[in-house]
Amino acid sequence: MIVAIDGPAGAGKSTVAKSLARRLSLHFLDTGAMYRAVTLEVLRRGLDPASGGDCAAVAGSIELDFDAQGKVLIAGQPGEPHIRSREVTSLVSAVSAHAEVRDPIVTLQRSLAERWGGLVAEGRDMTTVVFPEARHRFFLKASSSERARRRALELGTPEDVERIREEIERRDRLDSTRAVSPLHVGPGVREIDTDGKSAEEVLALLVSLIGAPRT
Ligand code: C5P
Repeated sequence: MIVAIDGPAGAGKSTVAKSLARRLSLHFLDTGAMYRAVTLEVLRRGLDPASGGDCAAVAGSIELDFDAQGKVLIAGQPGEPHIRSREVTSLVSAVSAHAEVRDPIVTLQRSLAERWGGLVAEGRDMTTVVFPEARHRFFLKASSSERARRRALELGTPEDVERIREEIERRDRLDSTRAVSPLHVGPGVREIDTDGKSAEEVLALLVSLIGAPRT
């Protein structure tokens, strides 16, 4: 079974997708982590995030895999916490906008789905480009202030909420207006408004929509 989940930064996709994968005994695929890993490697190699050629060279040669917890490995080494740095976060949307970067990453995402015999995948183009045929496709949304509040709590820096909101809105803009695989609600994709809902409530809603057995 493939469950595809998209949505903007901080909509709660990771938390919900991880719990859903556990509930359904499926692998969880954090596709944002893959683009973050490419961005980190571009920076480590001293290359230019604005250059499609530079970023494509990295995306085509980087060795990505996942550990048992679903955390990304770069050439066998943990990508966390480096892939969550402020620098990577501010540059990842520029790197992921290059078509030459997306092609090899999308191929890898589909091959992981085959290798794992299904998955719960979350990102920006899971429902529209990577797994458009998946039976279960969801778009999680929430206001930017709610998303910033959650992210700031997660990071343990509530005082940073304003800066985080601006960063989230900037990434939303870049991710939704890019030419290749922009973030949008595709036809037949079920929109879920998570404003004012806890992660448990969103999970319960998805489980009931998928029709999975309750534990
Ligand atoms: O989900 P996360 O915030 O880690 O994603 C980081 C960035 O990776 C996004 O802002 C977006 O630019 C890119 N991304 C993407 N396609 C995906 C997942 C993430 O372009 N499927």
